[in-house]
Amino acid sequence: MAPSPRARLSIDLDALAHNYHAIAAEAAGAETAPVVKADGYGLGAAPIARRLWTEGARTFFVARLEEGEALRAALSPRAARILVLDGFTAGSGPRMAAAGLTPVLNSLDQVAAASRFAIAAAVSQPCALQVDTGMNRQGLGLAQASALAQSDRLTGLEIELVMSHLGSGAVPEHERNRHQLAAFARVRALFPRAKASLAASAGAFLGPDYRFDLVRPGISLFGGGPQEQPDSRLRAVARLEAPILDIRHVAAGELIGYGATISAERATRVALVGAGYADGVIRATRRGGTAWAAGALRRLYIVDMDLTVVDLGEAEMQPGDMVELLGPHALLDDQARAAGSIAHECLVRLSSRAERIYLGADAKPPA
Ligand SMILES: *Cc1c(COP(=O)(O)O)cnc(C)c1O
Repeated sequence: MAPSPRARLSIDLDALAHNYHAIAAEAAGAETAPVVKADGYGLGAAPIARRLWTEGARTFFVARLEEGEALRAALSPRAARILVLDGFTAGSGPRMAAAGLTPVLNSLDQVAAASRFAIAAAVSQPCALQVDTGMNRQGLGLAQASALAQSDRLTGLEIELVMSHLGSGAVPEHERNRHQLAAFARVRALFPRAKASLAASAGAFLGPDYRFDLVRPGISLFGGGPQEQPDSRLRAVARLEAPILDIRHVAAGELIGYGATISAERATRVALVGAGYADGVIRATRRGGTAWAAGALRRLYIVDMDLTVVDLGEAEMQPGDMVELLGPHALLDDQARAAGSIAHECLVRLSSRAERIYLGADAKPPA
């Protein structure tokens, strides 16, 4: 018996390297510091970061302490700087120190805890400071940052980086960007010896004013466009393909799948493709999403747990042929929009059920 056909997730590390250099060229003059939180946006933080290290990246961001510890083990060279966006949470000091992680301090409480830890350990604790310049998410307020800069509450702390995050970077003309930029200039003046960082993927493409010393791209490393639409400067890193399990005829008007909401517009042939939402294909993609089969983008009818139904029309395809559900043709940003989501969510949903293959140099999967 033939082995059970399986969905395949290929992760193209050469495309990742291309995107890294494309962003670095766009942000020339600033350091490009990859964000590999959430296991490298679901694609494997260890192989992703190792390849980026080979390409020249020296500073990395993760969200959680555990992600930082795992990344340190994967990268081993102490020369890599690893910043933890969650910051200095209760009891994390010894673990941060053991793994050589740098916390991003997000509140006065975190500043106080980190300072206490540094004083008790009689060390100078490197850290970054995040200031909220108008996104209303993480970070100290402007007034808090200003008071802090003039206080003695930073004893034991070495603020290496001041950073903030843009709320509307994907919309270049949005006035919020200019407001946040102006506020960030004031923050930067408070900590003149620290490096400065404002831009994630979107901001890295907003021009020289937004670059400062360091940019923090995540999604664009993986091919997501800075403006939430496909961008020809970037290549797809993740490609999800699955085999056709069966091909069926449906008559015009016949209902397809669960419920009674989706029917064929005309008599056609449909392919049952062996990947569904359990493999990370977002169910809502059926509203306008596509799949790439026999050299064309084709309509998706439904996404079930294990199956996706694709309109083949007259295309010459056989069971066993592979269909691309995400990748260089069925583009991340287009699929995300069809699903009413964003590229980030589409990537992190890719589950472990699909067989994973790393393509390109340093292509060893994590041990
Ligand atoms: C996640 C994150 C990034 C990366 O964002 P992308 O949109 O994926 O480029 C950068 N900075 C901070 C603070 C983040 O939380």
